[in-house]
Amino acid sequence: MKLNEKVALVTGSSGGIGQGIAIRLAQEGAKVVVNYRSNPEGAEQTLKAINEIGGNCLMADGFCDRDRGYSIGADLGMVDDVRRLVAESIEHFGTIDILVNNAGIEKHSDFWDITEQDFDAVMNINFKGVFFATQFFVKHQIDTGKNRASIINISSVHEELPFPHFTTYCASKGAVKMMMRNLAVELGRLGITINNVAPGAIETPINQQLLNNPAQLQPLLKNIPLGRLGKPDDIAAVVAFLASDDARYITGSTVVVDGGLLWNYQEQ
Ligand code: NAD
Repeated sequence: MKLNEKVALVTGSSGGIGQGIAIRLAQEGAKVVVNYRSNPEGAEQTLKAINEIGGNCLMADGFCDRDRGYSIGADLGMVDDVRRLVAESIEHFGTIDILVNNAGIEKHSDFWDITEQDFDAVMNINFKGVFFATQFFVKHQIDTGKNRASIINISSVHEELPFPHFTTYCASKGAVKMMMRNLAVELGRLGITINNVAPGAIETPINQQLLNNPAQLQPLLKNIPLGRLGKPDDIAAVVAFLASDDARYITGSTVVVDGGLLWNYQEQ
């Protein structure tokens, strides 16, 4: 297993891509902090799946570590919550080695109708939360003097590609892209790698409206060279790689995981 002895914090892991990532990292041997905001039942589901993996692991001495997962409620849009999330994760497992900034939202609107409230909601969760979770994580690495840690941001093909009517979303993901590139330079000497994973269209609750609307879904599928939507584990597999020592020389990169959509996208 690639991530034995590692501890990961995955934000927004009570469902969707974050849940897939949390479970996959646990399958690779990591202990995982599951974070949720308004869906404790979803977080319980993630924890159950993680602890079942723990339950299956028969170690040489017959011991089975069931304390593989821990869940913490925190709103990523609020810096005090983010600070507490990182501190409580460290308190519970003793350290964190892997930070996955996954929590995110989107709001559909014509540009001229975007309200300050929606602007703040998207930017606070998708950018400010990512920024400060990363800062608190980095301070922990400095305090411990460790020489290897990894940060993986779940951005989007829309860190690069326009998405009309989702200007706040695109701006937030573009901000995460430049934060990532900047920090790759600044954090390299601390042994911390930072990369983005940019999903295309993935089957999760964020896309429920699209999934329920064949008239919208069919043209999108035609734009995806691999002919299907992605699944959370398509993203999770890449995150597990980037978190592992196999990826120790990769920093400052975005890995696009989109079935080829980015090079074949047309807005309908
Ligand atoms: P989702 O709506 O299923 O999950 C979003 C997660 O973020 C949920 O677990 C939710 O609880 C959490 N979250 C939202 N606001 C939060 C807050 N204030 N505090 C803590 N957690 C919060 O969507 P998803 O598709 O799983 O999205 C996960 C990430 O992937 C997001 O950053 C999204 O932008 C990105 N992404 C998704 C797709 C896609 O097609 N599904 C494509 C590109 C990028």
